[in-house]
Amino acid sequence: MLFPVLIFLIFFENRPHAYNRKILVLLTALTMILCIAKPIQLETGFIFDLRYVPFIIAALYGGYRNVLPLYLILNVYRFYIGGAGMVHSFIFSTVVLIVVPLLSKKFMNMIPRSRIIWATVSALLTMGCYLIVLSMIIKTLDRQFWMLVFYALTTHAVVMAVIMILLEQIITNFRNRDRILQSERLNVVSELAASVSHEMRNPLTVTSGFLQLLNQSKTLTPEEKGYIELSLQELNRAEKIISDYLSFAKPQSENMVYSNLQAECEYTKNVIMPYATIHRVAVEFSFNNTLCTRYDSNQIQQCLINLYKNGIEAMKGMEDGVLSIDISERKQNIIIMIRDTGIGMTKDEISRLGKPYYSTKEEGTGLGMLMAYSAINKVKGVIEVKSEKGKGTTFLITIPT
Ligand code: ADP
Ligand code: MG
Repeated sequence: MLFPVLIFLIFFENRPHAYNRKILVLLTALTMILCIAKPIQLETGFIFDLRYVPFIIAALYGGYRNVLPLYLILNVYRFYIGGAGMVHSFIFSTVVLIVVPLLSKKFMNMIPRSRIIWATVSALLTMGCYLIVLSMIIKTLDRQFWMLVFYALTTHAVVMAVIMILLEQIITNFRNRDRILQSERLNVVSELAASVSHEMRNPLTVTSGFLQLLNQSKTLTPEEKGYIELSLQELNRAEKIISDYLSFAKPQSENMVYSNLQAECEYTKNVIMPYATIHRVAVEFSFNNTLCTRYDSNQIQQCLINLYKNGIEAMKGMEDGVLSIDISERKQNIIIMIRDTGIGMTKDEISRLGKPYYSTKEEGTGLGMLMAYSAINKVKGVIEVKSEKGKGTTFLITIPT
């Protein structure tokens, strides 16, 4: 049982995702075959094995797509061995194949502890059903049979629980490492940005001022005026990029407040309304939060505006786009939910969010999300992203108080 976990951790954890999936399925298949080849033999003569433990884990985490190859391998190997109970095993595995992956979606949305419990329950139920079927076949329910029931059920529950605890711990470790990487990246970028953008601001302001003066000259031809307008526009753009940069590069201190986000929400709502109207997006807004925390008012405003803007931009050119913003509290956490019904993102695109300069827009700077992550990071909050291509995106921000 530990074999695929270990091999995967040691050799494959840094490979790209698509490749990982195949390796995992292969290793799980190998474990299953080992389980069948070396079953557990009780003194009473009964044998049983743990083949359904990896099978259920793959079904719950991976859904139909990943468990189907396992199902095929399991049955091909079982037919190859032959012997009694072949047909039963085939029917039983088919039932498990159909039922367990149904729970996969729900399972993936649970918190780790519930996942451990549910996987263990699934293993118990599966084995329970198997034993009920078996009892119908062998008919004589003597003491030996009940011994088998006892051993099979306890072994399945314990093994499943142990494996699940390990898996969930590994997943948590991965997550934490990603988070550390992300905040490391933010530190480097913002330090660099702070120095560069600060130095750039003055020359830009000076140039822009002189160009404006020049623009008032009476001797300019219309063509020359056009050039100056263009230069001013581009300077403005540069200025905008720099202010995006500076806002997250600035050390937190200037605008620190202790509040419940109400003022920021009102302000950002007013700022974003005209933009939403231009793009014919409806905005739904609700505010139900009494919890207060310390934060930099400007940065939180900027962060919210960036997220709203992205939501609206994701619904560009769509009929009846809706941006819902909901700020509430749950268990000493402030919860900010921003949902759009726009173009959505693939898993791959989600994983790129917040990397500097990642943008899919022609005019995009790829700094909006970076700034948002940085601002939320500074208040020790987390941003969760749920998105489906073509359906929309939900940003869920949790800020502890
Ligand atoms: P920019 O908006 O300048 O492109 P951001 O950092 O704000 O930069 O966003 C980076 C990229 O993330 C966007 O170009 C877009 O592809 C993607 N993105 C962000 N928010 C959303 C969203 N709500 N829906 C779909 N895609 C999004
Ligand atoms: Mg943006």
